[in-house]
Amino acid sequence: MEQKFKTVKLTKSNTKRLIFILSLAAVILLSVVCFALTKKAPAKKVTSDLTQTQSVTQTQSVTQTSSQTAAQTTAAENSGTTLAAEPLSSEEAMRHQVTTTAASGNTVKDKEKTIYLTFDDGPSINTPKILDILDKYDVKATFFVINSGYNKYMKDIVDRGHTIALHSYTHDYKKIYSSEDAYYSDLQAISDTVFNETGVRTKFIRFPGGGSNTISRNYCNGIMSKVTKGVEEKGYTYFDWNVSSGDADGNNVPVQELIEQCNKVPKYSNTIVVLMHDTKAKSTTVDALPKIIENYKALGYKFSAINENTPPVHHKVNN
Ligand SMILES: [Zn+2]
Repeated sequence: MEQKFKTVKLTKSNTKRLIFILSLAAVILLSVVCFALTKKAPAKKVTSDLTQTQSVTQTQSVTQTSSQTAAQTTAAENSGTTLAAEPLSSEEAMRHQVTTTAASGNTVKDKEKTIYLTFDDGPSINTPKILDILDKYDVKATFFVINSGYNKYMKDIVDRGHTIALHSYTHDYKKIYSSEDAYYSDLQAISDTVFNETGVRTKFIRFPGGGSNTISRNYCNGIMSKVTKGVEEKGYTYFDWNVSSGDADGNNVPVQELIEQCNKVPKYSNTIVVLMHDTKAKSTTVDALPKIIENYKALGYKFSAINENTPPVHHKVNN
């Protein structure tokens, strides 16, 4: 009896306090709900912001790709060193993750994944076959040419919508890397040859052996450091590569091997520059080309010839 009375008394005396506590709880609950809702709304905005900045991220990745792979690609064009996708640093992995997140759920990702097929050392007896395959797949590519003896095909390269670019007149390392003057006079010679054959005065170049080559040390210390800066001051843009087909490993490298090498694209870059060769001795490159193109198409890459909007892929300079 005494207990019951006590309870009733307590309930009555605390009614006001109880109402206050309930109100407070309701206010807190409302605040939590509001907070959760406002957190959700900006998430959409972040995604669209990321989408807009994706091209910037991509450009940064390309620069990192080139410097990262370069350490392992010393004179890759010559020695045939294969460029494989490298493990990502945590910063790069994060950047890649951000890029992927931004691209998911829209078409930006597909639009921005671009493959630049590049053919060095031509024109050659194989050039017409390569051009036919590129036409068949409606793909544009870039040819870094030399004075090869098949210069008549330079015009076909241009007429069929591809980019013609300069590699070297002689492709003789001993000569071209003996001095800056020797390099520039060789460059001028191939530039004039291309101009005479095609009417095009191209400003895109690729150094024999790539910007990272060390073979030039045998002929002139520091020559690559000088000419990689010098050509840009003269208005040229040079391109290295971040995927090697492996066709520099030797002559007639098995088709399957070339296809597999081309599949090793750096995952942290949406801009892929593939090194291939257009010479008589590289006929398996021609045989592998259709499958290589099909594989990249299946991965959603867009093909493009190098142009003024192409982000340059540069190796680390080693001499
Ligand atoms: Zn070459």
